[in-house]
Amino acid sequence: MSKPMLGNPQKTIEVLQKYQFTFQKKFGQNFLIDTHVLDKIIRAADITKDDLVLEIGPGIGTMTQYLAEAARQVIAVEIDKNLIPILSDTLGGYDNVTIINEDILKLDIAQLVNEENGGRPIKVAANLPYYITTPIIMGIFENHVPVESVTVMVQKEVAARMQTGPGNKDYGALSLAVQYYAKPYIVANVPPNCFMPRPKVGSAVIRLTRHKTPPVEVADERLMFDIIRASFNQRRKTLVNGLSNSDRLRLSREDIIKAVERLGKGAGVRGEALTLEEFARLCNNIAEISADR
Ligand code: SAM
Repeated sequence: MSKPMLGNPQKTIEVLQKYQFTFQKKFGQNFLIDTHVLDKIIRAADITKDDLVLEIGPGIGTMTQYLAEAARQVIAVEIDKNLIPILSDTLGGYDNVTIINEDILKLDIAQLVNEENGGRPIKVAANLPYYITTPIIMGIFENHVPVESVTVMVQKEVAARMQTGPGNKDYGALSLAVQYYAKPYIVANVPPNCFMPRPKVGSAVIRLTRHKTPPVEVADERLMFDIIRASFNQRRKTLVNGLSNSDRLRLSREDIIKAVERLGKGAGVRGEALTLEEFARLCNNIAEISADR
């Protein structure tokens, strides 16, 4: 095996020039050029020689080299076909890396994990393309991909939204969805000068450690997420108004008021004041009241 050699500006430029690579904005291409940040991601992901790691968007293979050193096996999924010959070159020294030229959103990751890891949980590590951060992460959790942790670079504001709780301006449907499935921990903030080209936004590395069992018991997961979305769709409205106006829920205002009151909250409460546990109880109240109808 060879040692990681990318992750600094000179080497990255060398590789890009050798292949006359041009960045594609539509694919969210901002390559890492800072070895300290790479070390931090690998350490936070806690990868061992037992692990199969899925990397989303390897770019020119910078982080992939680090992952290949630490893991038993790495599967890297890259959408841009122009990067495939580059990856064959930069990862040529590693026999434990498989490159798949695919759109991650079209790939059946659960099936891949079944085939490649006998269904045992994998770890995900990536410097994500920011334009699809939420669909990638929620796709992994909602499709019940066997995963132990997801350690990823995301836009700084998105990391804040994932980690925050009630009473904070960033609190919303994403916070609750992520925290239902995993425990978030922001590992580090990363400034734009650690990437080539520099992104216009700040970045952060976040580790999401999958809960073994969800932290709340809920009769109907889908109903709870419908309630959460309806509550945050109209931020300035009360919870009762938000839920009454929702097409997806089709509940009478009277039933909604009853369900909210059973929570021990007044009819004027707003969705952003409720914890995940309270949303779960609200969902169970609504399911019970609907069943009595
Ligand atoms: N991992 C590299 C690094 O850190 O230098 C590149 C990270 S860059 C932020 C995001 C990568 O994701 C790019 O290589 C881009 O082409 C790739 N990508 C974008 N959309 C994708 C998709 N739908 N499926 C798979 N890869 C995608």
